[in-house]
Amino acid sequence: MTQSDKLITCPCCTSDACYESEFTTQDGLLKTWLCMTCGFTSNSTMTKDSEGLKQTLELTAEMIKDLRQDHDGLAWFPTAITMPEKGMIFPEPNKNIKVTKSFVKNKKTGIMEEKEVNEKQDWGWTVVKAIPIPEEDQKKFPDPRNPGTFYKTKMDMKNLKRFDKLSFMDAAEELGMFAKSIEINED
Ligand SMILES: [Zn+2]
Repeated sequence: MTQSDKLITCPCCTSDACYESEFTTQDGLLKTWLCMTCGFTSNSTMTKDSEGLKQTLELTAEMIKDLRQDHDGLAWFPTAITMPEKGMIFPEPNKNIKVTKSFVKNKKTGIMEEKEVNEKQDWGWTVVKAIPIPEEDQKKFPDPRNPGTFYKTKMDMKNLKRFDKLSFMDAAEELGMFAKSIEINED
């Protein structure tokens, strides 16, 4: 399997920080995208009615499904990342949402019209870090995938950090994701 990476313009947020990775697999060429600005992700199997998209929709939270965008025939969703040793990043609605207004130009008349912000768009990134479980407590956290072993870390749900929806990069840095990606590239 070979891999190459480059940055492209993100179809979701138009920033130029969208990572495109190309893999040659047994099934042919696979492309994946992850935007470091908006955190949206897709891959070349996410076409309408595809098995890949069906599976994703089954496994994905309603809130993430609601944020779906379609570009060039591919479905894009905000990513959700879990790294047991480091923590998690996931999109979450903004709490205590106040009804806010924004102005949108009417394409026909050119007049600015007041519009209520769609609550579903009012979301951001939550970062939860993994913390070590004290050795004497580890027996309370059995690892279901490896019977007889116990988790050494847990998600510190009391210490959440919130990031703006266009600050995925900051959220990823907070989690230490980049150290991980460098390790992968060196392989
Ligand atoms: Zn983007």
